[in-house]
Amino acid sequence: MPETIHSRCTAALEGALSSVPFYRGWRESDPGPSQSASERLKALPILFKKDLRANVPFGFMHESYDGRAGLMSGEIELVATSGTAADRVSIIWHQPWWDRSENEAARLHPALARAFGCRHREAVLTSPLCAGKLCHVGRVPMEERIVSDLLFLNQAFDPTAWDAREVRRMVDELNRFRPEVIEGDPAYLAILARACLLDELPVHQPACIVLTYEFPSCVHYRQILRLFPGVPVVSSYGSTETGHVFTRCEAGRFHQNTATCHVEIQPVRASRGDVGVGRILVTTLDNPWFALLRFDVGDLARLHHGPPCECGRTEGLTVEAIEGRVRDLTFDLQGRAVTVKDLDDALSVAEGVVNYQVEQSGPRQYSIRYVADAEAARATAEVLHEAMRTVYGAEADITERSVSALSPEQSGKFRLARTTFDWDSEELFK
Ligand SMILES: [Zn+2]
Repeated sequence: MPETIHSRCTAALEGALSSVPFYRGWRESDPGPSQSASERLKALPILFKKDLRANVPFGFMHESYDGRAGLMSGEIELVATSGTAADRVSIIWHQPWWDRSENEAARLHPALARAFGCRHREAVLTSPLCAGKLCHVGRVPMEERIVSDLLFLNQAFDPTAWDAREVRRMVDELNRFRPEVIEGDPAYLAILARACLLDELPVHQPACIVLTYEFPSCVHYRQILRLFPGVPVVSSYGSTETGHVFTRCEAGRFHQNTATCHVEIQPVRASRGDVGVGRILVTTLDNPWFALLRFDVGDLARLHHGPPCECGRTEGLTVEAIEGRVRDLTFDLQGRAVTVKDLDDALSVAEGVVNYQVEQSGPRQYSIRYVADAEAARATAEVLHEAMRTVYGAEADITERSVSALSPEQSGKFRLARTTFDWDSEELFK
């Protein structure tokens, strides 16, 4: 690590161990200053969402900071993250730190850097539950959904329920608001894109599109790029807990936002999957209100090896791909982990597919439900069947079913893959 990152990382580690209540019990695991900050962090336990649940609001705050006064004055807020009940946690939100994290992450792609380099309008299309602390459900006039330079477009829990009128409303608002940036959940933006293409609605073209909140599938990309040809589509990875962690650069790789986090990728065990892939552990930097060390975000990434990225960025980790959530892993006939990215790459051959969900119900039993363009439906089933066999094994028991729509989960997020049985995720990384 270059000196500046190294010293900031050391400061975050030593500050947390010496004056953040939760980490008192971790001090004995620290090998001390004779080791590098990365090595010292690696020796510590991992921080899980259950730890946040048990210790927020004040457990991750530096002792010299007065949490009650901060909450009273509004300098910090207690915010619930999105996701399923098992995933959901409350965190301490410090807006200036979040803004810094967002602005620094924007520097990692030229189109984002240009947009964020000056004041700009941004339209947000996500689940109404996911858009920060705001929640716009039902009929709210456009003016009331604009906060500063942000317009929140969606008002429905389930975007598959958008009718032609709702689509037209969103398009009209985009055309009037003329945002420089559209920030979208890829699944939601893909549904809007397809509806616009089918109805031949002309839509304002922003300077840049940012995909975040969920794993962007190739089927989402395909529809978004059709509606917005020539617009740079940037994938941004982060979480409510950790801020913005990785941005995909113009050469297609993800670079770490070294201004506000340190990242470690803990590989999957060789016997259980591809060791090139690992879970993302994030240490936040310079946020004394909410200091996270080695926080398990619950997602996987594939590290880049070899020469530096063509874009020229070398600071921090370079990641080949974000591979999806740990809890969305499925397993092939040998019991080896299949990431959402593995699956998505294989299924990308099915041209007519606009959405899908794979479910594994036993060691050899897999099903795929999919939404496809009408004219492609029959050929699609065969293509998907073959693609699933290449992923899971020739002897896999695979069924496919064409459906008219796939709705998100209660959390507002779509799941591309899941198992119907429980399994121990910790066991994958031991
Ligand atoms: Zn790059």
